[in-house]
Amino acid sequence: SDAAFTDGRLWGLHNTGQSGGTPDADLDAPAAWDLTTGSSEVTVGVIDTGIRYTHQDLAANMWVNPGEVAGNGVDDDLNGFVDDVHGINAITGSGNPMDDNGHGSHCAGTIGAVANGGGPHVGVAWQVQLMALKFLAADGSGYSSDAITCIDYAIDKGVDILSNSWGGGGYSFAMAAAVLRAQAAGILFVAAAGNEGNDNDANASYPAGYTMANVISVAALDRHDQLAYFSNYGATSVDLGAPGVDIFSCVSASDSSYALYNGTSMAAPMVAGLAGLILS
Ligand code: CA
Repeated sequence: SDAAFTDGRLWGLHNTGQSGGTPDADLDAPAAWDLTTGSSEVTVGVIDTGIRYTHQDLAANMWVNPGEVAGNGVDDDLNGFVDDVHGINAITGSGNPMDDNGHGSHCAGTIGAVANGGGPHVGVAWQVQLMALKFLAADGSGYSSDAITCIDYAIDKGVDILSNSWGGGGYSFAMAAAVLRAQAAGILFVAAAGNEGNDNDANASYPAGYTMANVISVAALDRHDQLAYFSNYGATSVDLGAPGVDIFSCVSASDSSYALYNGTSMAAPMVAGLAGLILS
């Protein structure tokens, strides 16, 4: 019943030709939902700018750390983070991953915005636990070392899937080792292919370019199932495409704010959410 689904804004979930699109250029989400709408036993970590965990369309699907007592100022689970109830901010080393940009909340909403209530949005997975792993600052920049902290935190907390809508920097042995640790833990590592219009086979983009078997590199498609003009691609290095143009989702300005974003950043969480459905 969510308005952005019923009025057709969420074309990536169900495309009937609205806004001049090509019918069925979509995820066929309603058909998937006939099989499963997800499971609250599946946890997806969003490595990004944080998540506005109070957002009306996200709050009910936020991961809650079972080992932490909220707000008591104590590191109850002795993992180095105080009151890390919904995840961490690896930049400051705190347990508060509040989003100060919007990008991470947008990704989170695509994966698992609350269905049939909570506001107009609905995610690919109706039931899922969203873990907020902040390593990107308000300006969208961040350090690989902080991303690695997020990966290892998620491994320790038993995450199932990691959604990575970020890129930059060259090959890193330390990052590759972290992706390998995730692989050893059975964690899928979904990554955005990048937005430079490049062939990633010729110019590798990381972390999407790591070749471990658990890495899925995602290009962006438009509402005609065509590669988005900005999307990276690569016959070998990119695995698939998903909707990434005119994508409606949550942002962080308020608990009821939404926006349309473009990017492979928007396509990767479609795949992470779908992986959550499949796992469920
Ligand atoms: Ca803790």
